[in-house]
Amino acid sequence: MTDKKKELGRLLMEDFPKNPDGVQQEMHSGMAQYLIMMDDICRCTACGKRFRADQIEHNDHRRMCHCPECCTYATVILSRYRFSGTIIEGEQHYVVFLSSPDTDYLYVSCFDCTVYFAQHSDTPIYDFLETQRYIFTENQAFRYGHDHYY
Ligand SMILES: [Zn+2]
Repeated sequence: MTDKKKELGRLLMEDFPKNPDGVQQEMHSGMAQYLIMMDDICRCTACGKRFRADQIEHNDHRRMCHCPECCTYATVILSRYRFSGTIIEGEQHYVVFLSSPDTDYLYVSCFDCTVYFAQHSDTPIYDFLETQRYIFTENQAFRYGHDHYY
């Protein structure tokens, strides 16, 4: 890569557009959802509501059932079968495509999304890590990010 191309790539990355509002919420809703049961209270990760555990169809650990509040089909997690410390439950990869109204450039962001559960909590932690960025112009492509991500 020439110095001129490197400089152009650097300038383009500085102007990389911000993700529009709601993108992270959309990624969250695309991830696996859970009904986390602690004692007699159940919490749905899709709608965030808590309700009595006897309101769901069954209470079998790792089986799927519907949230009585939002009807999302989710995996039941019984806290008594859980773990000590923090575990990684699932990962998902997302690609966000953005175009600019001012140019014909295509901007691409790649995200690695992970959901964690911590002991004694019915609220999972969602981690959204941007791993790669690409810019496609009329005749060139630029990439920024770690080499070991896919
Ligand atoms: Zn729900």
